[in-house]
Amino acid sequence: MNNRILVVEDSRSFRNYLNSQISKINMEVVSAESLVEATAILENDTDFLCAVLDYCLPDGQEGEVIDLALSHDMKVIVVTGKFNEQLRDIMLAKGVIDYILKDSFASVSYLLPLLTRLNRNKSHKALVVDDSKTVRKHLVHLLDHHYIRSVQAEDGVEALEILKSDPEITLIITDNTMPEKDGISMTREIRLTYDRSQLAILGISTAESKTVTAQFLKAGANDYLKKPFNQEEFYCRIQNLLNMKDISDDMFKLANQDALTGLWNRRYLFSNIDESKPQRNVAMLDIDFFKKVNDNYGHEGGDQALTTVSHIIAIYFKDDLAARFGGEEFCIVNYGDYDAFVQRLESMRQRIEKTAIPYNNEEIKLTISIGATKAKRDIDTMIRIADERLYAAKINGRNLVISKDVD
Ligand code: GH3
Ligand code: MG
Ligand code: MG
Repeated sequence: MNNRILVVEDSRSFRNYLNSQISKINMEVVSAESLVEATAILENDTDFLCAVLDYCLPDGQEGEVIDLALSHDMKVIVVTGKFNEQLRDIMLAKGVIDYILKDSFASVSYLLPLLTRLNRNKSHKALVVDDSKTVRKHLVHLLDHHYIRSVQAEDGVEALEILKSDPEITLIITDNTMPEKDGISMTREIRLTYDRSQLAILGISTAESKTVTAQFLKAGANDYLKKPFNQEEFYCRIQNLLNMKDISDDMFKLANQDALTGLWNRRYLFSNIDESKPQRNVAMLDIDFFKKVNDNYGHEGGDQALTTVSHIIAIYFKDDLAARFGGEEFCIVNYGDYDAFVQRLESMRQRIEKTAIPYNNEEIKLTISIGATKAKRDIDTMIRIADERLYAAKINGRNLVISKDVD
């Protein structure tokens, strides 16, 4: 993901301050101190998340650098020492993302979350619902300007269909009055399946009725915006909604994902067993002689090995429930054909055996033992049986898959 920022600022102290602060949020800064220097950079390189530009430079005192960057289709944030409403309006109309007053170093504390927001926006996708094509086009344009991808629906019915088929959608922006299913009814229906933290909904309407706001919120919208709204207000609402969504996604990951490997944790596994499926297969996996990996390559080498093995598990069992069960133990739950499942475990075992894990100019090699079981019993029993078979694999020489009882 591109997280490079172009900073053009003639004040050396402010430039240095910007550079150090932006670097702290893990973004790379390319900086220039004049219009001439910025022109030279942009001739060869426009691959930036956005440009942070000083309005007034010694060799361009009337915002020339802004036009320059915009002519290269760059996203622009203006920092300026002077503030007046008219200039601000002109800047926003030109298509800059934001306009920040350089009145103190504290203004940087507004800029940093904005840059982080822009970067994270790329992982969001909006569904814009409105019967007016013009309105949809306008909203899509505003979203695109902040790196938010979008799809469109012309009424509530179409929106529900699109939502069902596109799991990437994280945000819905919807009108209320539409011919086929209004926004409020649609919101109510969506909330039967998606809660507020899974999917953010922003209701928009021109309706004169004073109760529309409350109706939207009661139906489950996260927020509401009345038309006509100005661009800044729109972005502030969207930013708030997506910040909340990101925070709740982060919390969900912290609670349910293993930090080292990215696999689900034990807690998630136990609370996400699908009891409605007619059959179930469970496998327990354990890395062989993992203590030796730590002894030979250190704990960091061991961590690298764990991460690589986890990636392989995630690739082979991408449609299944794969979790890091503890230390170097993993558990996979699958609902398909048992023989096919065992076959896949066997291919994965071979793949792990053949993989050389690069670490500090060395190659770590390891193997994995697996015990598997089928039949629909309670999950604790299935894990116990799979574990017994895993133990059998260990005493029968390791680097084995055992999928039935051995005498
Ligand atoms: P066996 O083939 O019998 O499974 O032998 P083993 O050495 O793999 O088994 P054992 O369970 O005795 O040792 C597991 C080791 O895994 C001990 C522990 O230090 C290490 N371990 C557990 N969690 C982590 C981790 O997060 N990182 C690293 N580097 N090591 C870990
Ligand atoms: Mg082990
Ligand atoms: Mg172990």
